[in-house]
Amino acid sequence: MRSNKRSGTRPELFVRRLLHGLGYRFRTQVGGLPGRPDLVFTRRHIVVQVHGCFWHQHSDQHCRLRSMPKSNTAYWSVKLARNVERDRDQEVALVAAGWQVIITVWECECARPDLLAERLMSLLGSAREPRHAKAAFTLSARAPDIQVNP
Ligand SMILES: [Zn+2]
Repeated sequence: MRSNKRSGTRPELFVRRLLHGLGYRFRTQVGGLPGRPDLVFTRRHIVVQVHGCFWHQHSDQHCRLRSMPKSNTAYWSVKLARNVERDRDQEVALVAAGWQVIITVWECECARPDLLAERLMSLLGSAREPRHAKAAFTLSARAPDIQVNP
């Protein structure tokens, strides 16, 4: 049983099942990596983070799950800003450790599994031939998720 909200969350389990169903194999809870990424594709050298829209403050203005609580706003804005900052630090640390492709899946994306599957397949490449797929999508994969100037 896991009480830690950082691992084994509902969206994370959903994404794991989705990827398994598509034929991908990956590892979870890999020690020694900055921020303990949720899913690690060792041979592809890709990590996937599954973020709750509220806790990680999804920056998409159409996201309905990220809303700030109406009370205790000062407390929440500090706490959530710290989470976002930690996420950014972890991404920087992962890139520094040689993990060039970091895919962030947002909780709200789980409501559209078909679109999510399409996006993940285009970023991960074929489930069968990871080595050939890598070079072509390395740059584009990072663009939507990493904000240089938030
Ligand atoms: Zn969202």
